[in-house]
Amino acid sequence: MSIWPMQTIGVIESCFKEKFAIPRQPGLSPSAEATLTLLPPFDTPDAVRGLEQFSHVWLMFIFHETASQGWRPTVRPPKLGGNQRMGVFATRSTFRPNPIGLSVTKLTGIDTHEGVRIHLRGADLLEGTPIIDLKPYLGYADAIVDAANGYADTGHAPLQVHFSAEAETQLMQLQTQYPLLRNLITEVLSQDPRPGYADDPTREYGMALYQLNIKWRCDTTGAVVTAIEPV
Ligand code: SAH
Repeated sequence: MSIWPMQTIGVIESCFKEKFAIPRQPGLSPSAEATLTLLPPFDTPDAVRGLEQFSHVWLMFIFHETASQGWRPTVRPPKLGGNQRMGVFATRSTFRPNPIGLSVTKLTGIDTHEGVRIHLRGADLLEGTPIIDLKPYLGYADAIVDAANGYADTGHAPLQVHFSAEAETQLMQLQTQYPLLRNLITEVLSQDPRPGYADDPTREYGMALYQLNIKWRCDTTGAVVTAIEPV
């Protein structure tokens, strides 16, 4: 068996502080902010020279939070409601022989004043995710508009997202500090992050975005954000 030595080239700071409710693919939450800080010896402006010319980048990363759980030949994709099995290589599951993830994100800025910090939008990445490679997204090569998406094309309609009066007030107070918060919450909840099997309509959920705990539940109209509290 071949072993290829690899190094973490950088680490992600993300608005997503826990796995629960992170969208299942990038781009589903265009308002999600992340910053990639390169680590020595990769943290030189030379290593990113020219990258600013691209609007999007590919990130290869380690599913560090779940890596210790190993892999199985088949997994249950959430897209299929969690009750059908597909081959691990026919899915984007985190439980893979090599726990490597692949995400395309928007590149919004590169700061090379002290080290290298790369600002991203739309990433589906957990806080602290180790990045093992970064490369430009090439529309002419990477975008295949008529691609067949298989079973991944199935799925339910997005949830409508509403905010309680209390949550609206809290959003208003947080507007300066987190200008993207309303959009971010809406994008994340419209994906319906509830586990497929847990269908207790009275259940209140919490999710960690930035330094905030977002409380929400579901009713017949969709998802209702009940409160936004500092952690
Ligand atoms: N776009 C990637 C990820 C798909 S799986 C790919 O296709 O390879 C998406 C899930 O990965 C998210 O819902 C999130 O819960 C999970 N995730 C994100 N960062 C992670 C990390 N560092 N460790 C484990 N899981 C992570």
